[in-house]
Amino acid sequence: MNRLLPERRGSHVSGPLPALLDVPASSPPPRNRLALRAYVTVVMLGGAIMLAAGLASSSDGPVDPARVALFAVLALLTELLPIRLLRGFELNVSLSFVFALLLAGGPGPALAVAAGAGVVADLLQRKPLWRGLFNGLQAALALGAGASALSLLDPDGHTRMFASPRDLPIIALAALVIFAVNHFAVAGALALHQGLPLTSLVGPDLVLHGTSTLMMVILAPVLLVASDHSLFLVPLLLVPVGAVYFAARALSERDRQAFTDRLTGLNNRAWFHEAASILIGDDGPAPAVGGRGLAVMLIDLDRFKEVNDTLGHQVGDQLLEQIGPRLSSTLAEGDLLARFGGDEFGILLNGVPDAAAALERGGQILEGLEQPFPLSGLSLDIEASMGIALYPEHGTDVDTLVRRADVAMYLAKESRRGAEIYNAGRDPYSPEKLTMLGELRRALEGEECVLHYQPKARISDGVIVGAEVLLRWAHPLRGLLAPDAFIPLAERTGLSRSLTLYVLERALKQCRRWHDLGLSLTVAVNLSVRNLHDGTFPRDVRRLLDETGVPASSLQLEITEGTVMADPTRVSRVLQILRNMGVEIALDDFGTGYSSLSYLKNLPVDELKIDKSFVTTMCVDANDAAIVRSTIDLARHLGKRTVAEGVEDQAVWDQLAKLGCEVAQGFWLGRPTPADDLTRVLLQREASGPALLA
Ligand code: C2E
Ligand code: CA
Ligand code: CA
Repeated sequence: MNRLLPERRGSHVSGPLPALLDVPASSPPPRNRLALRAYVTVVMLGGAIMLAAGLASSSDGPVDPARVALFAVLALLTELLPIRLLRGFELNVSLSFVFALLLAGGPGPALAVAAGAGVVADLLQRKPLWRGLFNGLQAALALGAGASALSLLDPDGHTRMFASPRDLPIIALAALVIFAVNHFAVAGALALHQGLPLTSLVGPDLVLHGTSTLMMVILAPVLLVASDHSLFLVPLLLVPVGAVYFAARALSERDRQAFTDRLTGLNNRAWFHEAASILIGDDGPAPAVGGRGLAVMLIDLDRFKEVNDTLGHQVGDQLLEQIGPRLSSTLAEGDLLARFGGDEFGILLNGVPDAAAALERGGQILEGLEQPFPLSGLSLDIEASMGIALYPEHGTDVDTLVRRADVAMYLAKESRRGAEIYNAGRDPYSPEKLTMLGELRRALEGEECVLHYQPKARISDGVIVGAEVLLRWAHPLRGLLAPDAFIPLAERTGLSRSLTLYVLERALKQCRRWHDLGLSLTVAVNLSVRNLHDGTFPRDVRRLLDETGVPASSLQLEITEGTVMADPTRVSRVLQILRNMGVEIALDDFGTGYSSLSYLKNLPVDELKIDKSFVTTMCVDANDAAIVRSTIDLARHLGKRTVAEGVEDQAVWDQLAKLGCEVAQGFWLGRPTPADDLTRVLLQREASGPALLA
């Protein structure tokens, strides 16, 4: 008979699919605890009344004690061999024997055995007493209802055997009653226990459970006729039943394995998908979820590869096995946990009202991982990054939510901020961004991206010594786009190489033109993070220098600290190659990254560009002034040049001159403009002698 699922042993939120929303031992009390208690009490009371009434009614027909005993024993034995189904239901064939008992011995023994078998089976499997009582009494309730239906439909049925074909409809109707009471009693309890909408539990197994109930009940008269002939025939009848039973069990076991992660015993990605779909509902939100919100979280361990590489895969595996219990100890009833593969885990939190709440819960979950992990004599500290996508804001289906949580996770890794909420504006794969990506690709093939040049002036005499190239995208519909609007997109989607080469080629051609006009300027080109991660970049630079005939010393490449820090050894090697060619390297936005001073000493760069956030305000903010002053000192001691960017007024220019800064760049000297505009100004200056460009 159908019954409530057992509590999971230990504290893993893992294992078989029926344990869909099974709870770790340390979880907080269910939100529906009171309602669940009331519900369970009512069902049990109903079952107890049924049982008492059954026992009080005496059977009119002849009762064979040996037959009653045989059916009772078989009912109990089969009760012990359940087949677990999806969503927490269990099936077993004991109903056939209990129903046969009802026909053979009247409601008294049948109800007693149904209730007793439920309790005993649960106790033998070490389930809590209340579950055993609930399962036993709800079975008695269902069977009692079936017995009542039977005696209503056929008042003198108890005096004869149900062995003629015209009895079949009556038996089928009784089976329907048993099924309905049983199915809804258990579904109701599961729904309250797991915090799920009733519809999500009643629907999916309805047909399977209904037909199997019918088949088991219909077997009862066969058992009865056989036992009437000889009691030994009854176990023989079990042979085909057993064959079907074991096949079904094997199938359900295989299903379960398909949903389980072998290494950790946690549920796997496929399970997560299934379970989360049930919660969300395929056609919009499930009623119980509506208004409460869900959060899908993806957790990825930081530097897990290092653990594997340095301590070995065995230790890595041990670590992964310990992650599940840690994570589940911070989850509540109704939350889901699964291992997605590798060092990636998925969580679904049920009932998260808003982003702030999701971040708070996310923080707690990550904190749970902060305690060191004891691993074969070592104590290992682990950090993790988490991406969060909220239902329904960021998606209304599991695929979208997981994909967006994944995007957020990568941002969390980049920003090293632990947990990040999905942000459509930073999603390279959102539909708008995908459109833009296609347009950008075409823009780089055509001439839609334009280069603007911002002058750099030597502070000692005001002479323009170079220009920084700043990219703009003349978008046909959206107008002139600033680089921040599209460069991050290009960087995250593998377009950064073509973008940089596009800029580099045009910048060098322009530089050539200036040299031909007698204007000896350097051009500074900004690089993207990935440019220096591939060793082919210096070759591209060499080729373009050769093609344009620009001397390497007229080219500067600007990189940020982030570029270096992403892969210090490789980047340093590539930088060294470029420098050996004669190209100058500038460290951009200096002061905003995290590179350490000892690092700087060994970094192959020629120039530090002090970030504009310090320069612009250095005359009004003493701290900024101090930072600028110390950076200039530091650079001088390291033998590097300083460039101050963001010079917006004369006061800053004068101050920089006093501090001994070499080069300045900023709106006061000139905004980024198309090359021709800058050329005109430069030629005028040639004619009229040095003067600042205002
Ligand atoms: P960046 O390299 O730090 O470029 C300087 C930015 O500061 C430019 O913004 C420039 O217009 C602005 N700026 C210049 N003088 C002043 C000033 O006096 N005051 C203020 N408040 N701002 C000033 P822009 O052109 O929007 O460029 C933004 C960023 O985009 C650049 O920062 C650079 O990191 C990136 N970028 C621009 N062009 C390229 C490119 O061709 N390739 C790559 N990879 N990145 C680029
Ligand atoms: Ca720059
Ligand atoms: Ca800068």
